[in-house]
Amino acid sequence: MTNTKSAETMKALFITAPQKWEIVEVPVPEITYDEVLIRVGYVGLCGTDLELLNGKHPYFSTSNASFPMQIGHEMSGTIAQSTNAALPVGTEVIMDPIVGCGICAGCKNRATWCQERIEIGVRRGGPGALAEFVKVPVGNAHPIPKGLALRDATLAEPAVTSIAGVSRIKAAGGRALVIGDGTIGIIAAQVLAHRGWEVLIAVLGERSAERVRSLGFEPVMPDQMPSHSVNVVVEAAGTNRSIKSSFQAVCAGGEVVLLGVPDTPMESFDVADVVLRDLSIYGVLNGPGRYKEALTLISEGVIKSPKIIDQVFPFAQFGDAIALLANPDRKLPKVLVSM
Ligand SMILES: [Zn+2]
Ligand SMILES: [Zn+2]
Repeated sequence: MTNTKSAETMKALFITAPQKWEIVEVPVPEITYDEVLIRVGYVGLCGTDLELLNGKHPYFSTSNASFPMQIGHEMSGTIAQSTNAALPVGTEVIMDPIVGCGICAGCKNRATWCQERIEIGVRRGGPGALAEFVKVPVGNAHPIPKGLALRDATLAEPAVTSIAGVSRIKAAGGRALVIGDGTIGIIAAQVLAHRGWEVLIAVLGERSAERVRSLGFEPVMPDQMPSHSVNVVVEAAGTNRSIKSSFQAVCAGGEVVLLGVPDTPMESFDVADVVLRDLSIYGVLNGPGRYKEALTLISEGVIKSPKIIDQVFPFAQFGDAIALLANPDRKLPKVLVSM
């Protein structure tokens, strides 16, 4: 907070209608004994934010999201208020945005299975991190390892999805095709390569092929897609077409990991092909319980932040950040906002 305003208010970004947002002065959230207040350092933006901003996210049609809303679900920052001995004021943390009800059958396994879950900045009105401060339950704040920059730690939230996806694979190694060269696809590729897989990344054109080569991976153009030959496909593009390509690419006995969420149901899906070729399909939502692993992999350089983060914009330039995020020709996938 700056000195020019009262101590109890902060700036926060609200989406008020599709494509409309404003930064307004609101009260700083008040915390209870089992919550901490985080001064936000960086916020990562992703396709989910674009869908929310455009009013196109599936959560709108199920009444799990509505305007006005405060977005921002990938964040790093510093504890500003806490009564928890393990998270004293000044601790650098990242936020796990998924908060289950804590009592249902789903929550007994993982918060992502909870129908009632709040996803901070995404679902059921949990006020997001595009603000000077955000409050989270104690269990949703994870300390950043010493020496890891706050900015790079922001990648932990998308990274847990990639790590959870790659960890579902039962095969020990071989050829893997990643479809989607966004943050989740690139991180999945980096983790697969670290685990000894030969990794190909499907691209849409020469420009993204260049980008993929500069990241140290072999690009595959649309007319060279493997047919019934790779052992594993990690699908992180989330279009009907890319999902169909996944099943075309994988060999008999192979595994398909689905990370992308298509915004329309698939018109046709050949179940016979899945049965007759002994395929395994995994749907993966987020990666609860994998934050420590994600932060370690970012720290160790397995997940390579310089090859993922494109630009960092100040909060006041949110519009420029969104414009870059919507531009498929940007150099690297991740766009950050510095608070
Ligand atoms: Zn995201
Ligand atoms: Zn629950």
